[in-house]
Amino acid sequence: MLEFDLIARIRQRAAARADVVLGIGDDCALLAPAPGMQLAVTMDTLNESVHFPPETAPYDIGWKSLAVNLSDLAAMGAQPAWCTLSLSLPDARAEFIDGFSDGFLALAQQHGFALVGGDTTRGPLSISVTAQGLIEPGQALRRDGANVGDAIWVSGTLGDAAAALQQWQAGMPMHPALRKRLDRPTPRVALGRALRGLATACIDISDGLLADLSHICRASGVGARIDAEALPASDALCAVVAKDARARLQASGGDDYELCFTVSQGKSEAVLALAEKLDLPLTCVGQIQEGSALQCVGMGLDPVALGYQHFA
Ligand code: ADP
Ligand code: MG
Repeated sequence: MLEFDLIARIRQRAAARADVVLGIGDDCALLAPAPGMQLAVTMDTLNESVHFPPETAPYDIGWKSLAVNLSDLAAMGAQPAWCTLSLSLPDARAEFIDGFSDGFLALAQQHGFALVGGDTTRGPLSISVTAQGLIEPGQALRRDGANVGDAIWVSGTLGDAAAALQQWQAGMPMHPALRKRLDRPTPRVALGRALRGLATACIDISDGLLADLSHICRASGVGARIDAEALPASDALCAVVAKDARARLQASGGDDYELCFTVSQGKSEAVLALAEKLDLPLTCVGQIQEGSALQCVGMGLDPVALGYQHFA
């Protein structure tokens, strides 16, 4: 298949959106942002073997490469709008392109998100997505707004994706529910939108709770205490991993793409009401403190030793 046919296959599947004046096919896309809104722009790359196991299904690779970008928009409180896709492919197999674009565009459609352009080249399997969202001026959920005394909350459950990855690395079959969390993360877009005006800071958990929370602490000039006993675990995680090992995965495992956010004292009721409304567990896991230290009490975990970093 030629590059042109490959692009045509993606283009056929891409959905329209009213504010896309000109989509895939010209030198640039033309977009008409709603007046008065700010653009939230983010980019993430997924490389085979680094960000997903080589045997990952094309559908899941497509899904995940968009999900990680939507998760960044969610963490900012932005409404997803448009994205571009840079694909580096070792060969032009129709099964891969069709599976990939089905996964990518299924998730895009869930969020009214439009694919408006991209680039396609030959090379090792690598996917880069630039995602753009819209946010009301002054409403973005930044990392630098946490205050001493704020409660620290997380969405969903933690450690599932890391547990699946650990099973894969050990050559074991992955637990289906855990594997689903690794392959098809759910970006918490509705939660991010609902946290505008409520959260004082927010970040999505891609590298692990402690690693990502440390970014909030640094940006806000505060410390934090996490209660390891409070970290939410899924039934699947409890079934597969013993309690001590579990706490470590929950505190430091990456790839869950849940949101970690802080809210002022006295706002717990509002957060719990939100959990009910969105039908999504929201759990208070600690508190922002004075200083710069990140403490994790309850399970003998050392935060400094935890948290994934590339090139470490
Ligand atoms: P150019 O050489 O002008 O950059 P290309 O031949 O790379 O154009 O791409 C042709 C059109 O197809 C452009 O509108 C581009 O944005 C789009 N496109 C290329 N690759 C992709 C892709 N992987 N996903 C979506 N759109 C793509
Ligand atoms: Mg090009």
